[in-house]
Amino acid sequence: MRYQFKFRPYRRRFVRSLTTNHGKWQIRDGIILRLTNKSGRVGWGEIAPISWFGSETLEQALDFCRQLPEEITDEIIFSIPDELPACQFGFESAWEWRNGGDEENIITLNSSLLTPNSLFYSALLPAGEAALNQWETLWQQGYRTFKWKIGVYAIADEQEIFESLIHTLPAFTKLRLDANGGLSYEEANLWLWTCDNLKANAEIPLEIEFLEQPLPIEQFQEMLELSMSYKTAIALDESVATLGQLAACHQQGWRGIFVIKPGIVGSPSRLRQFCQQHKIDAVFSSVFETAIARQAALQLAAELSRNNRAIGFGINHFFEQEETWLQSLWNDL
Ligand code: MG
Repeated sequence: MRYQFKFRPYRRRFVRSLTTNHGKWQIRDGIILRLTNKSGRVGWGEIAPISWFGSETLEQALDFCRQLPEEITDEIIFSIPDELPACQFGFESAWEWRNGGDEENIITLNSSLLTPNSLFYSALLPAGEAALNQWETLWQQGYRTFKWKIGVYAIADEQEIFESLIHTLPAFTKLRLDANGGLSYEEANLWLWTCDNLKANAEIPLEIEFLEQPLPIEQFQEMLELSMSYKTAIALDESVATLGQLAACHQQGWRGIFVIKPGIVGSPSRLRQFCQQHKIDAVFSSVFETAIARQAALQLAAELSRNNRAIGFGINHFFEQEETWLQSLWNDL
């Protein structure tokens, strides 16, 4: 099959900047792409790299798009190199979309997937004290699983805020702690010890679902050891950014939780194959993509999630309404 190929870069400013152990993130850059086949069927895709997380850079993705001919084939789409995982995702999901595609209908298509059913979504809380002021609004919107970024401020301060947070969050809330690889080995032990103690304390009916990426990627063995030493589960995120890393960690014995960001992990078809073959415990998570990549990512999450884990797409409060913005972007594509 041959497809007419068009693409357009975009820039999007966060309403509130996102602070993690990697620093502040204020603008999301990406690429929207469109494939049209001979009979006029349209497939939309999105390339939303996060280079500091392990994907290609936006520039590399743009270079790849620019060197492609105006007409591309299945062979091109399925032979994108592994060094361009966000491109693999963008092109392959556009290819998957094209069968049901309808140019007029891009937003309403599959809108049931796009309307957040917040019960099944994890909402991202801001780092530090700001979390104490924000969870309530999100709770009122229906969220019951929250993620809080740690490893951003001094551990003593964060543990103090954590203490307040667990005493104010309503019963049966689930809380995920995400360190983005920013803890030392001692700090990771302290957090896990704190969480294990909390589990044993029946007076606080709150579940710490997992500690996410406590240590840097290079310290895989330490994380493997920690995952066997504490009751609190550990999830790998930065360590498993791409399919190659995912397979390597699994092969080295990781049987804890894997956070999968479909937008940068690589080829959707190979991801399906891997998850189905190994039945891994996966949590699906956003890369702050637009509705286009989100739809493809949610589709994968719906197919491949196990153990009723909330998915990390509760991030709408980080952007302005996107419908009109997206519409104007592709009107002139
Ligand atoms: Mg994370």
